[in-house]
Amino acid sequence: MAHVKSKTIPISVFGNVLKLLDSAASKMKVDPALMEYIKQPRRSTIVKLPVLMDNGDFKMFTGYRVQHSIVRGPAKGGIRFHPNVSLDEVQALASWMTWKCSVAKIPFGGGKGGIICDPRKLSKKELERLTRRYTADLIDVFGPAVDIPAPDVGTNAQTMAWIMDTYSMHKGHTASSVVTGKPLEIGGSLGRVEATGRGVMFTIRECCQNIGMDLNGASVAVQGFGNVGSVAAMLLAEEGAVITYVSDQYGAIHNPDGIDIPKLMKHIEKRKKVVGFRGAKKCKQEEVLFSKVDILVPAALENQITKANVRKVRAKVIGEGANGPITPEADAILHKKGVTVIPDILCNAGGVIVSYFEWVQDNMGYFWEEAEVNRRLEIKMVEAYKDVQEMSHSEDVSLRLAAYMIAIKRVVAILELRGIYA
Ligand code: GLU
Repeated sequence: MAHVKSKTIPISVFGNVLKLLDSAASKMKVDPALMEYIKQPRRSTIVKLPVLMDNGDFKMFTGYRVQHSIVRGPAKGGIRFHPNVSLDEVQALASWMTWKCSVAKIPFGGGKGGIICDPRKLSKKELERLTRRYTADLIDVFGPAVDIPAPDVGTNAQTMAWIMDTYSMHKGHTASSVVTGKPLEIGGSLGRVEATGRGVMFTIRECCQNIGMDLNGASVAVQGFGNVGSVAAMLLAEEGAVITYVSDQYGAIHNPDGIDIPKLMKHIEKRKKVVGFRGAKKCKQEEVLFSKVDILVPAALENQITKANVRKVRAKVIGEGANGPITPEADAILHKKGVTVIPDILCNAGGVIVSYFEWVQDNMGYFWEEAEVNRRLEIKMVEAYKDVQEMSHSEDVSLRLAAYMIAIKRVVAILELRGIYA
């Protein structure tokens, strides 16, 4: 569920991506026909899934898998289980994966999947049957060299284990590299769970260095306390930042002296929601986005900061832990106001970077120490940040436009070498 409710007509997330791509292309010399080609998702599959519920009834679910691009390598991207999943959203998320993998310079295209469901209302057995049926129906769509899913909102390592097993049973051999974000025991990578949040911290650290803001002592508000928000908050706190606001889908908390994140994580394990944590006061969810902090980390869902509320944002730096939390219109206003926004396709690329490392390790059958994974992740994130920063400086554009320009340039360069099989 979106944290900020909008009374206006729902915003097309895929439409937002197209707008961003057009803005970036307008600053570059790209053949418009080529641009048209790389904007469109290559293949979108819709599956209708009958699932046996625990009460003995069958219930129908709708699932999607979109392969936006395979120009730079196999399609790569997560699978989302959420009531608001739609083809529009999955196409947008798949497209973002293409640009994210390109900015991160990893040899993947972009894909994304989703099932319209509320995973909190399904039993473990129902979730397993739903995941296996989805995988079976997409058996020829997935593959270690074709399309490699991973966790996203509402899915986790257990979901990936079911996908891996179902795929392997159909193929007759264990194919661990068909998914990433798996449990360690079946070919997962050390550091993968924390990778997205760790990457968010690295890019915020680089950004602070660049704009001359001291991260040590900087105040931070985090919207969303799932896998991304919680780890980013913890690692930013380890760098000396003071986490003053945290929210989740149920509520928000505030402590001007800093919320003890490891303690909050322990509280969450038991209580599942941030409200009720003793080391902070309850506050309104909106306060998290609009508080006067140095750094804001939206780490929940799309379209949180829009034209309608952007003027209330008071943070100096925004690190997009989520995909698409700011609409293009709001983004332009923030840029004019001088707010530094670290765009999603750069800021949250840590997850897919370590997914790439996991896939490499599975394919080699040789696994790295956690320190090695984190070291390589840092190198990749810092390099990507530098590339984007330099482009932003030389072209006098926002970090977001710079990231898209780099991403498009790399996809076009490969297309020029490969040629278009038209
Ligand atoms: N779902 C994550 C993302 O949006 C990770 C994707 C992956 O690891 O393939 O970046």
